[in-house]
Amino acid sequence: MKTIIILLLLALPAFIFAHSKKSVTDNASVHADTINQSGYTLIFINKEAGFSTDLSQKLQETFFQVYPVLCKKYNPGSTRTVTFVVDPAYDGVAATSGNQVVYSPQWFDKHPNDIDVVTHEVMHIVQAYGHGSGPWWVTEGIADYVRFRFGLDNAKAGWSLPDVTENQNYDNSYRITARFFVWIEQNKNKKFVEKMDKIMRDHKYSDEVWVKLTGKTTAELWEEYQANPTI
Ligand SMILES: [Zn+2]
Repeated sequence: MKTIIILLLLALPAFIFAHSKKSVTDNASVHADTINQSGYTLIFINKEAGFSTDLSQKLQETFFQVYPVLCKKYNPGSTRTVTFVVDPAYDGVAATSGNQVVYSPQWFDKHPNDIDVVTHEVMHIVQAYGHGSGPWWVTEGIADYVRFRFGLDNAKAGWSLPDVTENQNYDNSYRITARFFVWIEQNKNKKFVEKMDKIMRDHKYSDEVWVKLTGKTTAELWEEYQANPTI
């Protein structure tokens, strides 16, 4: 009996390993695929039985088109293995934690063209800032800036940078901050986002960083931007 148990224990890792290389269906509603392409691996777990195969395909294709480009440009040390989970229990749009992104199938049912949610989320994996790196609005502003620059089809999703209004502020985050970053690159420092991203990852962020990169404080920059926000 003891021998059998030991044999089973020895066989278990081999069993898990064997199945990590291909499609696994644990039950009717959980399906996992491991896809390898050009040195990158995507583990795709679908917990929503009715989720469209076409959409699954699109999310995977977007990953393989965008993620290697972002790794190369911003953080060549980024992980090569990423997990996507399509989870009906998750009620936001998408969220990234560590090397895993969770997507809401309900969101994609309603917005099937919003595939560049992938672009925004995988940038968070590339950012890998950890805790205490700097303000969250810089993190989210960079992720939306990257969606704007590297997104595969923002137009089809009806996604664009919003017009500037006087009620906005630079720390409103997401698209408002992203647009500000685009303007900064056009007017002050072409490599602003690349540099800010690295500063955040190195945990070297402070208010002075803005002056170092642009010659101005955030308040001064924002005033200038508001006066002439053309991009
Ligand atoms: Zn985000």
